[in-house]
Amino acid sequence: MRALLLATILLLPGTAMMSSAPTTASRLEPLRLGQLQVWKLQDGRIPLAASLLKGLDPADARRMLGGKDAADTPVNAFLVRMPGRTVLVDTGIGQDPEDDSGHLVDQLASAGATPADIDLILITHDHFDHIGGLLKADGTRAFPNAILRVARREHAFWTEDPSRLPERLRDRAPKLKALFEVYAKAGAFRPFEDSEELAPGLRAIPAHGHTGGHTVYAFTSEGRELWCIGDLIHFGAVQFQRPEIGVAFDLDGDRAVKVRQELFREAARRQVVLAGAHLPQIVRIIPKGAGYDAVPVP
Ligand SMILES: [Zn+2]
Repeated sequence: MRALLLATILLLPGTAMMSSAPTTASRLEPLRLGQLQVWKLQDGRIPLAASLLKGLDPADARRMLGGKDAADTPVNAFLVRMPGRTVLVDTGIGQDPEDDSGHLVDQLASAGATPADIDLILITHDHFDHIGGLLKADGTRAFPNAILRVARREHAFWTEDPSRLPERLRDRAPKLKALFEVYAKAGAFRPFEDSEELAPGLRAIPAHGHTGGHTVYAFTSEGRELWCIGDLIHFGAVQFQRPEIGVAFDLDGDRAVKVRQELFREAARRQVVLAGAHLPQIVRIIPKGAGYDAVPVP
């Protein structure tokens, strides 16, 4: 039921009930790439129904998902410490009574960080499971010292002309505007242009299709490269092997497939490390047949 709901709504959250006193959970060790330190922070989990896969026979979908009708799917944010900056990519679902979610602050604590340490937030796109942690329950900024950045195209896609959106999503525009306005009022909201270099060693890669301005973030250090790929892929068990398979969430399905194929090709060629919002592990990909094998990066 929840997965069905996700298929039709896929947007705004409630607000995040972020605890101001994170618990001291077991320590999360970072992945080190050059001078980058990277932590996968799992905010929650959502079930994604196999029926969301487009262009795949239902029996094949079930088989690829290990005989199940839905994939138990993580919702990740990523903490990246780079020289001079502490960056958070996406913010999870936040507190939602229907989901196992809202663990971002505890996960940050396990990585040795607090919300106040974050000085840059990068949003891959404006779906609820990526922006849900931006505000506290009282409607104030959950990350009081962070500059919030999102592609201008993505922000405009949702807020400037709702008539372009599917009807079911049009009421989201005012809610999104209000959310980003909290950061804007504090002088902490800075949209960017496609492909902008956001800092030395950090640039945006337009990856439109899933949404109008969906963005991949590329970090480089000492010849190593990390891409935080947001929702470039939802079903790790299917779409690495079969990148041509789309999901019902993609607002421009053809474009989402094309972008996934192009970026996977490039990532495999350059041995880029991929951090996906809905992948259980950080991976590299290796060509195999018409698709890829995903190899976890320890
Ligand atoms: Zn997502």
